[in-house]
Amino acid sequence: MGQDLQTRPPHAASIADAILASVLDPTITIDDHGVVQSASHSVLEVFGWTPDELVGENISVLMPREPHGELHDDYLARYRATGETHILGRTRRFEVLHREGHTLACDLSVARVEIPGSDAPLFTGSFRDVTARERALAALRESEQRFHAAFDQEHQFVGLLTVDGDVLEVNRTALQAIGATRAELNGLPFWETAWWSHSRESRHEVRRAIERAAAGELVRFQVEVRCHDDRVRLVDFSLKPVVDDAGEVVYLLPEGRDVTQVRRAHEAENAMLRSLAAIGESAAVLAHEIKSPITAINIALRAVADQLGQDQRVVLEELAGRLQRLDGMMQRTLSFAKPLEFERAVCPVSELLDRVLRDSRTLGQPLTVKNQAPQAAFLGSLPLMEEVLSNFVRNASEAVGNGGRIVLSAWSTQAELCLSVEDDGPGVSPHVLESLFKPFVTTKRQGTGLGLAISQKIVVAHGGRTEVGESVLGGARFSVYLPQPEAVQ
Ligand code: ADP
Repeated sequence: MGQDLQTRPPHAASIADAILASVLDPTITIDDHGVVQSASHSVLEVFGWTPDELVGENISVLMPREPHGELHDDYLARYRATGETHILGRTRRFEVLHREGHTLACDLSVARVEIPGSDAPLFTGSFRDVTARERALAALRESEQRFHAAFDQEHQFVGLLTVDGDVLEVNRTALQAIGATRAELNGLPFWETAWWSHSRESRHEVRRAIERAAAGELVRFQVEVRCHDDRVRLVDFSLKPVVDDAGEVVYLLPEGRDVTQVRRAHEAENAMLRSLAAIGESAAVLAHEIKSPITAINIALRAVADQLGQDQRVVLEELAGRLQRLDGMMQRTLSFAKPLEFERAVCPVSELLDRVLRDSRTLGQPLTVKNQAPQAAFLGSLPLMEEVLSNFVRNASEAVGNGGRIVLSAWSTQAELCLSVEDDGPGVSPHVLESLFKPFVTTKRQGTGLGLAISQKIVVAHGGRTEVGESVLGGARFSVYLPQPEAVQ
């Protein structure tokens, strides 16, 4: 096979042949012009060439044109002239061109072989195919990058600890909070990191949490953490044990959510609710204080009116009427401001509709009732829901005027009981549509704009919702959806 082997004693040549036949890594010998002198059998499996095909070829057939292919002859020429080389005696990574045209990643180590009686040396190169290893490493790097991308996107603080509580990973959000780098924290006991440096108590708590989580428990508590800008944040912290297939705890997963804003919002909401409750109470007292003199004035006015002539009586009755409206408005304002407290009971829908129908008799227009859910019931207060529907019916009657149509319907779905009042009036004026359920929104000269606001408050307190839209009758349609009693319990 190789010319060099032919110059040796027969037993040396057969030893060399045996080696070339058995080495797993392709091994190729070239002369100082790059011409292949011998090649191990493994070149066939790895590079796709038979050893005989390679012998006599220039080694550059195994090199992609870029970056070494065309330059290899120059390298050898320089070596011959100056003895200068970068490759002898160490392992370098090379791309090798397979016979079928694709490239392989190989580690190459080259040794110079002196041939007795010859001036020109030979060079033996041993190639190790590392393509699979490199692919695996690249896949690992990619999955690590993907993991970090997801990990770092979290708004939460997330990390990974050993079962003993040493830091393995920390995401960017958590690092930014204390102004540290991953490298500074890796391997540190978690309780000794800067998140807990301001409080001995927190350090103890975290340490205890690690022991409990290592024993398989999910530990969760709220804790104050000092950030690098010295601001103290309230963090909802949890430590989760991560178990393997055998149920052994292998890692601990610390997670923290900054709940400082949420707590502030809760505190503000509580303060507002307390003030609203206080206003409600004062409104009740105020209404009581005002109601008595109004009633007294009303009675007095009527008594005086009785003793006066017809003309003066009309003026006084008009005054009494205004006072009565004032009283009504105050009652409504009061019931809007007052927190809604009511006993819940199972109320039959048919009874609710009967009551609303009875209330409607004082209005100018007849009310048509369509009850498609005669067996249905809702959980809540009958008088309050009566107030809601009667309110809708009163508004409809004011909208339609004489001869108008008003229809009250009830039907039910599996999840909800639906009640609606529709009319053939002009519909809701577009400029109040957006704010219809807000207090004091009215288009009427003597309206309070409280009816729909109160109605909505009652419906929401029943766990339901209101909707406004257009009716097939041509006017407005006000609907209420209440949860079915089974869904509430
Ligand atoms: P008020 O009746 O005192 O105005 P509401 O809160 O009950 O207060 O109603 C607010 C507004 O909603 C009314 O002024 C009216 O413009 C509109 N509205 C309510 N019901 C109807 C209806 N059936 N058709 C047209 N507009 C309506």
